[in-house]
Amino acid sequence: MRLTWQAHHDLSGANTLGLPCVAERFSAPSTPAELAAVLQEARAAGWPVTVLGGGSNLILGDWLSGLVIHPEFAAYRCETLDDESVRVHVDAGMNWHQLVMSLAEQGLWGLENLALIPGQCGAAPIQNIGAYGVELADVLERVHLVHLADGREQVLEAADCDFGYRDSLFKRALDGRVVITRLELCLSTRPSPRLGYGDLASRVGPSPAPLEVAEAVCALRREKLPDPAVLANAGSFFKNPVVEAELAEALLTHHPDMPHFSRPGGRFKLAAGWLIDQCGLKGYREGAFGVHDRQALVLVHHGGGDAEGLLHFSDSIASMVLKRFGVVLEREPRLVGISEPQGE
Ligand SMILES: Cc1cc2nc3c(=O)[nH]c(=O)nc-3n(C[C@H](O)[C@H](O)[C@H](O)COP(=O)(O)OP(=O)(O)OC[C@H]3O[C@@H](n4cnc5c(N)ncnc54)[C@H](O)[C@@H]3O)c2cc1C
Repeated sequence: MRLTWQAHHDLSGANTLGLPCVAERFSAPSTPAELAAVLQEARAAGWPVTVLGGGSNLILGDWLSGLVIHPEFAAYRCETLDDESVRVHVDAGMNWHQLVMSLAEQGLWGLENLALIPGQCGAAPIQNIGAYGVELADVLERVHLVHLADGREQVLEAADCDFGYRDSLFKRALDGRVVITRLELCLSTRPSPRLGYGDLASRVGPSPAPLEVAEAVCALRREKLPDPAVLANAGSFFKNPVVEAELAEALLTHHPDMPHFSRPGGRFKLAAGWLIDQCGLKGYREGAFGVHDRQALVLVHHGGGDAEGLLHFSDSIASMVLKRFGVVLEREPRLVGISEPQGE
């Protein structure tokens, strides 16, 4: 078996925000057996372990002590269940977008609306990735994982993962405690396009194939979102806030055009990007960081900044929204190797 880790590994190019970061130790296991071996070494030595996928939903501090694991096992296979259902078994290290396009090319329905979301498959359950009216939870059957504390393997049914809007058990009870190694998804050969979100329907023909829908989603996303390879960012920086009906109604009396979507329990989801835009912040820049000029929900890094600077900048944006609308914005990317700023 090959050597399992390298010391002092630079992660600046391994996070889409381009934040400077060095890992004390870094390992990219290319098989589950290599993963088990390096985790055993970490347990014996008492190193804290951090899992890094594609680095597209993280705010990294300058230094990560212990061991950073980046799964590189990346195969998938399809198992036919019946005339119209196919189970897909996919390794954690597989690139999400490549999986989506490959399955759409084979005429399988279920993932096409989730095209062009960056990152690895193993990270997809963490925040229950979603776009264009579809969430991972709609197709996920099972999650295979390894516990960091004792190397124990477990298979979790999707129903036990507590999925919510950009939320799951992996952000709560299992936060920082497991490595996801494999997913099982259930896709369909029966045409089931979901085109009700945004202007997706106008971008495809009357009976589109899954690949046509996936390509339309890619085109829409490229128009709206900056490519992290060109301008560093982590996609949506804030979650869309869910507020009580009373607050939504009060805001609507002053802003009748405010986008709002009803949620269970009489609450309303508001559009964080719209709230930021209304504060006149689209295109606003302060030093190394800025609000994207086409999509106010995306904060961008122009270079030369660090995690602390980004948190300071994002807190000032959230404060302006709170002051103007009384709405609290919650960050979407996860903090790793840096603590919450004081006063939060
Ligand atoms: C331009 C852009 C657009 C985006 N659009 C969307 C969107 O439309 N919808 C959406 O939901 N998200 C979106 N995102 C956010 C991001 O792509 C997703 O959250 C993605 O699933 C993160 O994958 P990753 O591999 O990059 O995870 P990372 O950023 O590397 O990690 C994220 C979290 O998951 C943990 N993690 C990663 N892999 C594992 C594993 N195998 N086991 C256990 N824990 C793990 C990490 O420790 C960390 O806590 C976007 C991001 C960008 C940059």
